[in-house]
Amino acid sequence: MSTQPGEIIYLDNNATTQVDSRVLAEMMPWLTEQYGNPSSVYRLGRLALDAVERARAQVASLLKCQPEEIIFTSCGTESINSAILSACMADPDKRHIITSSVEHSATVKLCENLARRGMEITWLPVNNLGQIDLERLKETIRPDTAIVSLLWANNETGVLFPVQEIARICNEKNVLFHCDAVQAVGKLEVHPSNLGIHYLSLSGHKLHCPKGVGALYIGKRVRFKPLLCGSQESCRRAGTQNVASIVGLGKAAELAAQCLVEEGVRVRKLRDFFEQAVTQALSGVKVNGDQLQRLPNTSNICFPSIESETALLLLDNSGLCCSAGSACASGSIHPSHVLRAMGLSHERARSSLRFSFGRLNTETQIQRAIDIVVTTIRKLNQRSPQMGPVLTAA
Ligand code: PLP
Repeated sequence: MSTQPGEIIYLDNNATTQVDSRVLAEMMPWLTEQYGNPSSVYRLGRLALDAVERARAQVASLLKCQPEEIIFTSCGTESINSAILSACMADPDKRHIITSSVEHSATVKLCENLARRGMEITWLPVNNLGQIDLERLKETIRPDTAIVSLLWANNETGVLFPVQEIARICNEKNVLFHCDAVQAVGKLEVHPSNLGIHYLSLSGHKLHCPKGVGALYIGKRVRFKPLLCGSQESCRRAGTQNVASIVGLGKAAELAAQCLVEEGVRVRKLRDFFEQAVTQALSGVKVNGDQLQRLPNTSNICFPSIESETALLLLDNSGLCCSAGSACASGSIHPSHVLRAMGLSHERARSSLRFSFGRLNTETQIQRAIDIVVTTIRKLNQRSPQMGPVLTAA
C-alpha cells in the first residue's frame, strides 16, 4: 500500500492534531440543538451543565484527580497565564519567579512582561541535552519565590524534565509549582495530585480536540486567584462555558486514556524507525536533546548545512508537514531559543527540523516520509552554498 498522491503526511502533531471524528461527533449536538447556557435553571441549561460536569470528570479521570480540581479555559496559554498570575496575586510580597530558558512562549512572554512590571525572573539554564540542574533549582528558590513554572515535556525537542523531583523540591521548600504539561498530557501518564504538583496546564488541540479549549488543574488545597472575574467555574474562570469544546475535550481525554499505553508504544516505534532510517541514510545528522528522557513522539534532528526554512518548503511541496524553530505571526522562522539555550550554534539551530508523530500516523506514511526527507536533504546538500536557497518564502 502506498500513500495517495496529494495525501498530506502530517508529522507536526506537537503543533496541533487532527480532530478525532469521535470527538467531533460528541460535540455536534452541543453546537446545534443543545444550545443551553449551563448557568440556566431550566432543562436545556441543566443538560448543558451536566455535559460540562461529565467532561470535567473525564479530564479528571485522565489526570487521576478530583473533578473539582479542574477548571476549563480557552487554551493552554490561558491556563499557564492563570496559574502564574494567580501565584503573583495570592501573595503580592513574593516578587520572584523561577522558570527555564526553554519554556513555551506562553510562559516566556508572560515572565518577560512581569519582569517589566518589577518581578524578578530566574531563567534556569539547560545543558546540551536540554536538562535543568536540580541543585541549581534548589539553590535558586528563595523565601520570596512566588512560583516555579516548568515544562513537563518540551514542545520542540520532547525532552522531559524530572517533574517528580521538581515537585518534591518545591514541596520541601514550600513554594508553588506550576507544570506546563501541554505536550505531556495524552502522551504520558500525568497524575499531578500523586506528585504534589500545585497547578498543571493542558490544551485540547494537542489531544485531537479542536482548538480553543484547555484546562487547568488546581490542587485541592491550593489557593487560586482568578484571571477573569465572574461567576462561572466556581468563580475561578468567568465567562459562559464553551460547552461544545468542553464536551470535546472530555471525549478526547477519555479516548487518550483508553489508548495511552499502546499508542505510546506504537508511536515510539514509528518515531524510532524514522529516526534510525534518516540518521543512517544521511551523514552528519544528529538528534537534538536527551534521547532517553524524551516524549515517545518527538524527533528534533539537525541536518548540518541545510536551511530549515528552505527544507520546510521543499518538504511541504512533497506533502510532508513538519516544523522548525517557532513560527512567528508573520510566518518567518527564528532559530529556536530552545536549541540555542542547549548550546547549539545559530547555524545548527537553523539546520534543525522537528518531526512529531501522532496516533493517526501509519507505518506506510512513515516509510514515505523517510523517502521524502532523505531525497529532499540530499537535494539540498548537493546545491553549492553560493547558489542560495532553492525556494524563497512567498
Ligand atoms: N505549552 C506548550 C509546551 C505548548 O506546546 C503549547 C502549544 O504549542 C502551549 C503551551 C500553548 O497551548 P495553546 O496553543 O493551547 O495556547
